[in-house]
Order: sequence, then C-alpha cells, then structure tokens
Amino acid sequence: MNTASRLPDVIVVGGGIIGGSIAWRLAQHGLRVVILEAGAFGGEASSAGAGMLIPGGEIQERSLWSVRGVESRRLYPAFVSELEAESGLCIDYRECGALELAADAGEADALRSRAAIQQDLGIRSSPVTRQEVRELAPPLSTDVFHEARWYPDDALVNPVDVMQALRAALSRRNAAVHEFTPVTAVDVDLCAVEWNGGWMEAGWIVVAAGAWTSQLVRRVPEAIPVKGHLIGYDREAGSLPPIVRHGHRYLLQRSNGFTIAGASVEHRGFDRSLDSTIVEKLHQTASRYLPGLLSDPPSKAWTGLRPGVDAAEPQVRRIEGSDVWLAYGHYRNGILLAPVTAKLMAGSLLSQEVV
Ligand SMILES: Cc1cc2nc3c(=O)[nH]c(=O)nc-3n(C[C@H](O)[C@H](O)[C@H](O)COP(=O)(O)OP(=O)(O)OC[C@H]3O[C@@H](n4cnc5c(N)ncnc54)[C@H](O)[C@@H]3O)c2cc1C
Repeated sequence: MNTASRLPDVIVVGGGIIGGSIAWRLAQHGLRVVILEAGAFGGEASSAGAGMLIPGGEIQERSLWSVRGVESRRLYPAFVSELEAESGLCIDYRECGALELAADAGEADALRSRAAIQQDLGIRSSPVTRQEVRELAPPLSTDVFHEARWYPDDALVNPVDVMQALRAALSRRNAAVHEFTPVTAVDVDLCAVEWNGGWMEAGWIVVAAGAWTSQLVRRVPEAIPVKGHLIGYDREAGSLPPIVRHGHRYLLQRSNGFTIAGASVEHRGFDRSLDSTIVEKLHQTASRYLPGLLSDPPSKAWTGLRPGVDAAEPQVRRIEGSDVWLAYGHYRNGILLAPVTAKLMAGSLLSQEVV
C-alpha cells in the first residue's frame, strides 16, 4: 500500500464492469482506489449488454481466453453472492441453461463439431429432441430449427444489477468513484493521468476504458467500437425459461419477465443512435422464433458499443517497463469475463509492491 503520501495506490480509468470489478477486488485488499469515469458509472457497454454467461455459445476453439471464459463462468455464482453480500443489493442471476438451434443439416453438423471441441474444455452439451425443446421453451416456434442442443451450464445475469452492486460495494470499501470526469491523457512513464485540468499520480494505473482505451494510451492494439442494438418486451415472468440462441440471434428473459432479443453487429464508430429500421428488423426476427411477439411491439430498444480490439484476444496486461496496466477488448464477452479478469489483475498487482 502507498503509505508515503495521500496519492492513491491505484487509479482505474473507466467505470464499466471490467474497471469496476478490478477496482472492487483491489479495494477489498485495502488499497486506496480511485475510479475516474467519463460518464455515469456503468453507463456504456456494461449496462447495455444482454448478460448471457455462455462460454458454450461463444467458444469455437481452445485458446487462453476460452479457457478463462470457462473459468469465469465457474467463478460467477461466488462472484454474485459475494457482491450481493457486500452491497446489500440483489442481482438477477439465473442458471437457466441455453438451447442452441441449427436451422438445417449443415448447421447441425457445425454445432456437433463445435460441441466436441467444447467438451474438451469442460463445456457440457447434448442433443435434444423436438419434444424436449417444446418442454424446455414452450413459446418457441418449432418451424425455426432442424436440430437443437442443450447447454445446461449456461446462465444469465442482469448487468445493470451487477453495476449497481459494484457501485455500492466500492463505496463501502471507501473507493472514490468520480463520475462525469474524463481522463484526458495517461502519462505511462510518470504513471499519472490528466483529469480536471491537472495531473494525478498513483502507484499503478489500470486503463479499462472499453472501446475508448486506445484513444488514451498509444502503441497498444486499437480498440474498436462494435455497435449492437437490443430490444425488450414486457412478458409474463417464467414464460421463456432458457436462453434461446441461433448464431448471433438470441432471446432471453429476466426474472421479472422482461424479454430481450438481439443483437445487431455494426461498425459505425462511436455513434450510439437508435435506428428504427434495425429495431423493426430485430422485432420481425424475434417474432419468427417467438410468434407471440408479433402483435406485441417492443417496449424498449437500446444500443451499446462492444469493446472490440485489433488483436486475437482481450488485452489484460502490463505495459512493459511501466506501472500502467491495460484491461480492455473483451468484445462480446465482457460480462462473462469480468470475474476472471478482476481475479487475474488483482493477483498480478497484489503480488508486487506499489512504489
Ligand atoms: C448489445 C450488446 C450485447 C452484449 N451482450 C453480452 C452478453 O450477453 N454477455 C457478455 O458477456 N457480454 C456482452 N456484451 C459485451 C459486454 O457488454 C462488454 O464486453 C463489457 O461491458 C465491456 O466492459 P468494459 O468495462 O470493458 O467497457 P464499458 O462498459 O464500455 O466501460 C468502459 C468505461 O470507460 C469509460 N471511459 C471511456 N473513456 C474514458 C476516459 N477518457 N476517462 C474516463 N473514463 C472513460 C466509459 O465511459 C465507460 O463507462 C454485450 C455488449 C453489447 C453492446
């Protein structure tokens, strides 16, 4: 701990689920943590995300981060319980399983091959009959799939709940969260950030600014915003028990019945505006899977910017020769990967001494 001065031990740039989770883990170890967030805490991708915790839906091959994805899924129940206990808030977390659909024989073959690779990583799945699909997801149209697989370990969390709980837990741990306070520069050599017209130094800096990270730190892989539209419907609670997914299309339900359909994948820079044509297209697609939605227009539509990166995997590492660390590029899986990212980052930082 940095006891020689009033400087923080750690400055975390970016109050999304990645920065927030890292800050929480560090604050739990007694470090003086300051979070600087350009907007509202959790106001970007981390509140927009659907919250599927589905290594089975995302992993195509073995890699460092696919193994970490499986680990993060295993960490989730304890992460949620600990966060609920510390914050005093409830988090909507459901171990609901997922149905993955194949529309034709070709897609079914691809699903089977992928499942074999996933099994080696510890991701369980099995084929299900049409009758079993009907029982698992009664409102799903049986016209939209040729075959289906069941992923029993896939789960769902409401990321808005996670962000509120992180905010409360950080406050209980005396971490300082400054919202609407953009960092305008990071000096990697001095381990300092420019904010509010002045500079602040710290023992370490963690830059977790999602899609904006490479605007702040030079000579790192470019962060790429990948826009996604989502739509939501007010439905009867419990009417869609599992996640249903088919490629990049998916449907899921929160505990209160709010049912989400997604998602578009768009490269439009930092534009977050809603496009009514895309909203209508998502509604038409969702209605093919759940015909009951056709006469029930979505009650909500929103967008978010997934933090893509011009690299094969997320960037969670130290900038060589400095005390500045990076944690960005979690793209479609940042909600899933938050617990493992926070564990890795806290482990790395705490095994060293702050100077
Ligand atoms: C439509 C959609 C659906 C998704 N669905 C899922 C899903 O089902 N499962 C899943 O695991 N993931 C999902 N994701 C991805 C997930 O939301 C992201 O990977 C995750 O939220 C990234 O978290 P983050 O903290 O890195 O980024 P962010 O939440 O974007 O946080 C970065 C923060 O940094 C702040 N910032 C930027 N610049 C500065 C600055 N100069 N100074 C200070 N602060 C700054 C921003 O304001 C922002 O709050 C989805 C994303 C979208 C958009």
